[in-house]
Amino acid sequence: MPTYNIAVLPGDGVGPEVVAEALKVLLALEEPHPDLRFTFSQHRVGAGCYAETGNDLPESTLEACKQADAVLFGSAGDPDVRFPDGTEIAPQLTLRFEMDLYAGIRPIKKFPGVPPLLEGNPPLDYVIMRENTEGLYASRGAGVRLGDSLAVDNMVITRAGTERIVRYAFEIAKQRKGAPADGRSRVTSVDKANILKSMAFFRQIFDEVAESYPGIERDYAYVDAFTVYQLKSPAWYDVVVAENMFGDIISDLAAATIGGMGMAPSADVGDRYGVFQPSHGTAPDIAGQGIANPMAQVLSAGMMLSWLGARHDDTEAIAASETIDRAVDRALDDPKNHPVDLGGAAGTSKVGDAVAEAVANS
Ligand code: ATP
Repeated sequence: MPTYNIAVLPGDGVGPEVVAEALKVLLALEEPHPDLRFTFSQHRVGAGCYAETGNDLPESTLEACKQADAVLFGSAGDPDVRFPDGTEIAPQLTLRFEMDLYAGIRPIKKFPGVPPLLEGNPPLDYVIMRENTEGLYASRGAGVRLGDSLAVDNMVITRAGTERIVRYAFEIAKQRKGAPADGRSRVTSVDKANILKSMAFFRQIFDEVAESYPGIERDYAYVDAFTVYQLKSPAWYDVVVAENMFGDIISDLAAATIGGMGMAPSADVGDRYGVFQPSHGTAPDIAGQGIANPMAQVLSAGMMLSWLGARHDDTEAIAASETIDRAVDRALDDPKNHPVDLGGAAGTSKVGDAVAEAVANS
């Protein structure tokens, strides 16, 4: 069994606070999974790093990420620290391009211990696959601005980029049990194919890839309507695929339906590398207060283990990822462990302690 070398990038804002809890939980795995071994190395990244060094993603950090078996990332950025063109520091986006992490995997699953948030309390269990390396965000740092009169950003949709994310979405659907509403495997293209040529192309490629998966139903939604379906009929969805910016927006709304940004984990993976970070950002409004919810970060660490396990054919790592998922559920069963964003009073480290204890006792 390998020793996994994990590059840890806590970053800015609540990043370091929630990463500390994820590390606590990973270390607690030693008891139930004694064969699982990690080495951790910490590296600087983000707005604080930029303010001090003029670089938000030092070469040494990027190199460490590429050398590691996986990267555990907190969050990065600060609205008060910006590049000269006014855009925010976002090394997580740079990493996605540099390491070709084309698939943003965001599981949206209802936690039994979290009080229902949607009318009728529908079952919720779907995965958003966000294309991470092109789409509208491909224009980042490359858009055009003419003085004070005009600015243009382009939507970039390539055949190769769309094929690989759509194929990944169908592959994930193959491994799942289908949509909660009817148990049928289904992949939904969330786009705006009725308005934009780029999106009609995205949908055309979606259909072409879908031909290779006859056992999986194909489904479509325009992104504006999809935001309503996320609230009214989320049980219909199994796997959803979208370009970069649409995927970003629908992920945040999806997070709100399961308890907020503090509950939504994510994985950014490509064919070679994997970076695991919560869906949320630096949450500057609550940073430094010890009240951030660490669950999304902890669950992202669980996704990291599941990815490592699949990659290295390591059943122990996969079992450990399931241990984390169960421990989160166990901790949430007791409202005393509910963090502030879930209406509770537990601080960041108390929530982390509760999960670590549930892991150790599993
Ligand atoms: P980014 O642009 O970096 O994705 P964002 O604009 O989406 O960031 P977030 O930092 O994710 O913003 O925060 C959005 C809201 O969610 C804020 O009110 C924040 O306090 C809340 N939030 C984010 N993460 C957490 C967390 N871990 N625990 C509690 N609340 C959080």
